[in-house]
Amino acid sequence: MTTDVAIVGASAGGLTVAEGLRRRGFTGSLALVDAEPELPYDRPPLSKHILDGRWPAERARLRTPAELDALDVDARLGTAAVALDVPGHRVTLRDGQVLGYRTLVVATGLQAKRLPGGSDLAGVHTLRTLGDSERLRADLLTARQVVVVGAGVLGCEIAATARGLGCEVTVVEPAAGPMLRLLGPQLGAEIARLHVEHGVRLLTSTVVTGLVGDAGRVVGVRTGPGTVLSADVVVVAVGQRPATDWLADSALALDDGVVCDARCRAATDVYAVGDVARFGSGGAGGARGVRLENRTNATEQGLFVAARILGAVGDAYRPVPYVWSDQFGTRIQVHGSVPVGAVVRVVEGSVPDRAFVAHVEAEGRLVGVVGWNSPGRVRTARALLTASETVPSPR
Ligand SMILES: Cc1cc2nc3c(=O)[nH]c(=O)nc-3n(C[C@H](O)[C@H](O)[C@H](O)COP(=O)(O)OP(=O)(O)OC[C@H]3O[C@@H](n4cnc5c(N)ncnc54)[C@H](O)[C@@H]3O)c2cc1C
Repeated sequence: MTTDVAIVGASAGGLTVAEGLRRRGFTGSLALVDAEPELPYDRPPLSKHILDGRWPAERARLRTPAELDALDVDARLGTAAVALDVPGHRVTLRDGQVLGYRTLVVATGLQAKRLPGGSDLAGVHTLRTLGDSERLRADLLTARQVVVVGAGVLGCEIAATARGLGCEVTVVEPAAGPMLRLLGPQLGAEIARLHVEHGVRLLTSTVVTGLVGDAGRVVGVRTGPGTVLSADVVVVAVGQRPATDWLADSALALDDGVVCDARCRAATDVYAVGDVARFGSGGAGGARGVRLENRTNATEQGLFVAARILGAVGDAYRPVPYVWSDQFGTRIQVHGSVPVGAVVRVVEGSVPDRAFVAHVEAEGRLVGVVGWNSPGRVRTARALLTASETVPSPR
């Protein structure tokens, strides 16, 4: 069977491509393939309101069954793609079906990295899917001591939520501070303060060397010879990697993501969107291009690619990256980026009041705007950033 457009990955990015096509009047056939059996759902709530129990799982759904029906897609949920034949225009699915396409969109996102040993012990979690969030919540409800490995955005959010559920939480991070990649040292120190004030034990410059188990269940985290942190639950939040294993034997170029040109095209009749796409290589994003891991990009890039599939010409894809995070009732918003060595200047509000907007400058240019409990004010400041034509430059 041949479909006009096949989209592999039915989450934020893939679903947006499908909707973008229909909204622009596309009447051809559309197939939406996903390894997970669930209807498309959103991931940001998984570390926040789904994990803390304030939302039922259904609230994370991106669309209702009726809305999905109205899209008129051949939804193949619960069937992973396992191989791609680019010249033959064919995707092979795990159940043996072969799906022919005229245009393919790769939207397979990321998968969680694991620690080298001990990941199979009960009580050890990663967080990427709805099922992960539900299993972690069930464990947190009876846990006393929780160790979160990794103080990136995800690790910090999980730590905050676990603390809110009454757990004793220790965060272990090899770098000198939390969320340094997103925020840099100055604002990372504010995250550290926020966590410590709420009773989180933050161990920075500390490397996890192994997990300790007893009768198949995790009981601790080793951080050096003779040093073990007791734990009933361990959450491994040490980063994620693009879900491209299924493309290993395809003709697509892979380099920590699917390599695309500035218009998100990976090969003839193949595009990539969302967390999996490394776009703009050789262009504004530098030799390697840029891969963004944020929710807003998945939508913006999905809409861009839908337009391209329908023949839109014009500019390269050049978003201003935007990431938000919610921790202990504090909303942190980053437009643009905070590159290494950037100067961070508070321009409105104040750090002691825990409500401010900061400008981020590098090489004399405004490259980022950070809001701390200041959603309205940061929106205004963001307009300056768009005008300055910031090139995404994550570390
Ligand atoms: C817990 C959590 C919290 C987050 N919080 C925030 C936040 O606060 N702010 C923010 O900006 N961003 C946040 N993010 C990031 C944001 O959710 C992602 O940027 C966004 O989901 C990317 O969408 P995507 O469609 O590119 O990929 P994904 O959402 O990863 O979707 C990829 C889909 O592809 C499917 N898939 C993978 N391999 C295959 C295969 N071989 N065959 C078929 N299907 C496959 C997967 O099952 C999945 O459904 C968070 C992410 C997580 C995990």
